[in-house]
Amino acid sequence: MSLTFDPDTIPLPVGHFIGGELIPVEGGIEMRRPSDGKSYTDCPVASPDLVERAVDSAKATLKASNWGGVRPRERTRVLQAWADLIEADAATLAQIEALSSTRPVGQLVAGDIAITAEQIRFFAEFADKEGSELAPTDDASLGMIMSEPYGVVGAITPWNFPISMAGWKLGPALAAGNAVVLKPSEMTPFSAIYLAQLAVRAGLPAGLINVVLGDGPTTGTALTGHPEIAKVSFTGSTRAGSAIMENVARTGVKPMTLELGGKSPQLVFADADLDKAASAIAGSVTFNAGQACVAGTRLIVEKSVADRLAAAILEKMKAARPGPTWDATTQYSPIISERQRARIDSIVRAAVAAGGECLTGGAVMDSPGYFYEPTLIANVDQANPAIVEEIFGPVLTIQTFGSEEEALALSSHPTYGLASGLFTSDLSRTIRFARKLEAGTVWVNRYSRSRDHILPTGGYKRSGIGKDLGREAYLANRRTKSVLISL
Ligand code: NAD
Repeated sequence: MSLTFDPDTIPLPVGHFIGGELIPVEGGIEMRRPSDGKSYTDCPVASPDLVERAVDSAKATLKASNWGGVRPRERTRVLQAWADLIEADAATLAQIEALSSTRPVGQLVAGDIAITAEQIRFFAEFADKEGSELAPTDDASLGMIMSEPYGVVGAITPWNFPISMAGWKLGPALAAGNAVVLKPSEMTPFSAIYLAQLAVRAGLPAGLINVVLGDGPTTGTALTGHPEIAKVSFTGSTRAGSAIMENVARTGVKPMTLELGGKSPQLVFADADLDKAASAIAGSVTFNAGQACVAGTRLIVEKSVADRLAAAILEKMKAARPGPTWDATTQYSPIISERQRARIDSIVRAAVAAGGECLTGGAVMDSPGYFYEPTLIANVDQANPAIVEEIFGPVLTIQTFGSEEEALALSSHPTYGLASGLFTSDLSRTIRFARKLEAGTVWVNRYSRSRDHILPTGGYKRSGIGKDLGREAYLANRRTKSVLISL
């Protein structure tokens, strides 16, 4: 069965999801489809009162269901049933997602959705495997390091991979025994509602996931500042991450996980497999049209192979064909909004004005929707806007080096340290660079995640605090209490 669908026929769950009920709302922020620019509905904006209602519902459900105190394997069972339903209903979920977002329906079913189901299972398995510890004390005492859930976690997610990002927040928080109030991006909110509806169908107590729709200033601020939100888990821009820290500092101290922006380098040495490197590098800036936090947007290549590598990358970039996200054959995504596309274009123009040379691209695409040409910019120094700014679009820069020291110096970014790529066949150099690169992830001779969900992801510098995925993400949703008993 083809996954291609007619975008005018898809029913959307427009409203907030509280206590297991969809609360329909009319009006809000106008939404346009990235693939053709057509206005199709409004995103409701939850008021602080509504956020309060969602938090109250989460708290009451936690108490009534004793979710944090049930046999841990019961949490595993329910979350696995949820993962099964997500897979079984992948086509509907994919249509809701593809309509609003930049994710092509063909990539969603086998990619984002299948991986999200797998990651929920991965986190579900921690529920009965990570717990409290006995501390080494003298014979006259018993010391315990008790592990407990926080209570209600406030989660906020971006628009670039809406289902995956919701899964990264919900999976570990629920497995660890918490309830969650989730605010998805106002540009792609409906797949989160559908995910929450599936969770209730799978047997998760209604009210354990509440989803409030809205923007950052109104709904997001009310959520992160709510006194009953015990922990904040955020993925988005460094700018919004700073605003959240400020709000949390003003309204009450609480722990935060912040997964923020990036401007990741890819270093290529002359001894690398250049064909493999070209595919990985071009793929990382054309996948989702470069709208990925870890996109490897700064190519730093050894001088002797720079022309050869650039030619191979250019060929792949030029092959990108735009298509609507509801066409199952589409590989190249639109940009999320007209505004974001204009921002990409203005940074590219500023980069050229500062001396950069566009080897390909550098313009909006002549097609319906918000597409932007895959763009490769040469002749850029460290102060060039295309090097400094997180563009969040299909724009790659190319710089060359003559020595390892030079490569390392170019790779360092003043603001970001999210991910990095290294292409070389020299093992000793691999280890040297893995130690020295200032980033939370180093990919060697590849530039993508695998399905090894045990590897945590997160940033150095202003790319964030804490980790998603891995054991660390589960533990970040538990807090510890020291208990010392005199015997
Ligand atoms: P954004 O920061 O504009 O918005 C992200 C979310 O935060 C949205 O839900 C938004 O409504 C909300 N928000 C904005 N201001 C807020 C505030 N003051 N208080 C509370 N909530 C607020 O980011 P975006 O444009 O949706 O996504 C792109 C950004 O996300 C990029 O910078 C990208 O690098 C980053 N990102 C990071 C990761 C990671 O794992 N590090 C993953 C995906 C995206």
